[in-house]
Amino acid sequence: MGGTFDPIHNGHLVAASEVADAFALDEVIFVPTGEPWHKKPVMSAEHRYLMAVIATAANPRFTVSRVDIDRPGTTYTIDTLTQLSSERPDADLFFISGADAIAQIVAWKDYAKLWTLATFIGVTRPGHKLQLPEAPEASMSLLEVPALAISSSDVRDRISAGKPVWYLVPDGVVQYIGKHKLYRGEN
Ligand code: NAP
Repeated sequence: MGGTFDPIHNGHLVAASEVADAFALDEVIFVPTGEPWHKKPVMSAEHRYLMAVIATAANPRFTVSRVDIDRPGTTYTIDTLTQLSSERPDADLFFISGADAIAQIVAWKDYAKLWTLATFIGVTRPGHKLQLPEAPEASMSLLEVPALAISSSDVRDRISAGKPVWYLVPDGVVQYIGKHKLYRGEN
């Protein structure tokens, strides 16, 4: 499950749970991006990583990996998948992310090689229709997840406007954001 997670919210968690159920996955590894080439995250990698750990702590099938935030330089999914597959040589890997992100995959580094490493699952918000790029058969799927009506940008906007985000993000993450005064505009 790759994403910036800036911050992680309940839509991400429901999406992970739905994909795990639909594709009979044993484990979902949340992989916060380090330095994306296409944008600068609002919050530091360590804050985004710790919020992902807090959000997933209660689920025995959810884990969080530091591979992207510990690897120096720009984050490319080809490197993420290469590293994860060498750590888990017998695993059948699926790469889950927002369908908007996966729709751009043809522009990603070494994209032709990506298909050999994982099956790609794009999760969509309700009502969003997307045309996926051509991919080898069975290597790319879309799954609509109604809970993805929640978005990280909306959560950030609500916090900076002083509005509550209870029930949009897990309780522990609300408390972490409050404790560290994140997303208030000054950090
Ligand atoms: P993004 O552009 O921030 O997000 C695009 C859309 O997808 C947003 O609506 C976002 O909603 C949603 N989204 C992102 N991750 C999601 C997830 N795990 N589950 C559900 N929705 C998600 O995308 P990004 O977070 O930077 O990148 C997504 C993944 O693609 C990362 O792992 C990144 O490293 C990878 N990627 C790789 C390359 C490359 O290799 N060249 C290029 C781009 C992205 P929210 O804001 O609510 O999450």
